[in-house]
Amino acid sequence: MVTINLTLNNFSELPSLLSLFGSFDNDYEYTTRGVFRRKTPPVCPVCSTPMVHNGYNPYTKQDLGKISIGRYKCSNCGNTQEEDRSFWENLKTLLFDSFNNFFQMLRYHSVSYDGISDIMDFIYPRSRSTILRAFNEKMEQENIPSSENIRIVHYDEQHPKEGCCQKYRLTILDAKTQRTVADELFGDKSPETIKKFLRKNLDTSEPVFIVTDFDKRYPDVLREVFGEKLVHQYCLMHLNKLIVSDFSKKTTIEQELLKYRLLNIFYNRENEIKFLEELLSEELNVIMNEEKHQEWSNKEIKEFNRFRYKLKLERRRKKEKIPLIVLKKQNIISTN
Ligand SMILES: [Zn+2]
Repeated sequence: MVTINLTLNNFSELPSLLSLFGSFDNDYEYTTRGVFRRKTPPVCPVCSTPMVHNGYNPYTKQDLGKISIGRYKCSNCGNTQEEDRSFWENLKTLLFDSFNNFFQMLRYHSVSYDGISDIMDFIYPRSRSTILRAFNEKMEQENIPSSENIRIVHYDEQHPKEGCCQKYRLTILDAKTQRTVADELFGDKSPETIKKFLRKNLDTSEPVFIVTDFDKRYPDVLREVFGEKLVHQYCLMHLNKLIVSDFSKKTTIEQELLKYRLLNIFYNRENEIKFLEELLSEELNVIMNEEKHQEWSNKEIKEFNRFRYKLKLERRRKKEKIPLIVLKKQNIISTN
């Protein structure tokens, strides 16, 4: 084991010195002057003459501590060497890694970067940008579990009439293959009927991602059937409809812009947003005259509708869908 030469000054530090140098054997020492080195200097790598002790190099990490690392010198050829200090670097890495875990935990609980920086002032001061960089680097290394093996299905209901009888048609669609998994007619669509239908047609022991509309009964029904295995996602189309229905049909340009900014959460609406932003800046010029303003606004909304129609035709011609907004890893963590 490493020899630690205690003095009255460092006597109380023995436990921490032992844990710091514990992995080194009897060939090493920690001198009374606080230098870490080999008791017998190594032989010169150039001329194989045994080297001699030759002072030390100090290493300091601000607010953390400092260490003196022994130097050796060859009295034959003058070559110098320094003792390996990887334990010191590892110690710093260990500390900063645990800070990074701490940042990640605080971000998980939605603490802002400024907030974390304020908290760190009590522990070891770190600026907002240092924390941001450390957090992003850590998230880049993070392995988000692959969702490839999770089954994604759509669940839907229709209400067809059979003669004068109201029937309920329950459907499960596989999102990947677009094939119908199950499709059955029932006399009612009570929670019990839905549960039976789901249990019969899906493996409830496997994780599943179910997309539905906003029917208020679904969260309870699905949780009862799938428990912890469930990820319930409201259908994006329905979420979109919900936003649109929040605005009156006759909107101002400002309201229209707000609507598209909200829609942009799910699907890429940058084209429409850019168009409306340009209109809004023009609007400031005509807003002085009320009558003129109304006239202008009506005309421009019509113009905007023509632009939307043009985008739609373009997509149809290229057989494209509106691109989905893909959340970045950081966003998923911070909104959890
Ligand atoms: Zn030498």
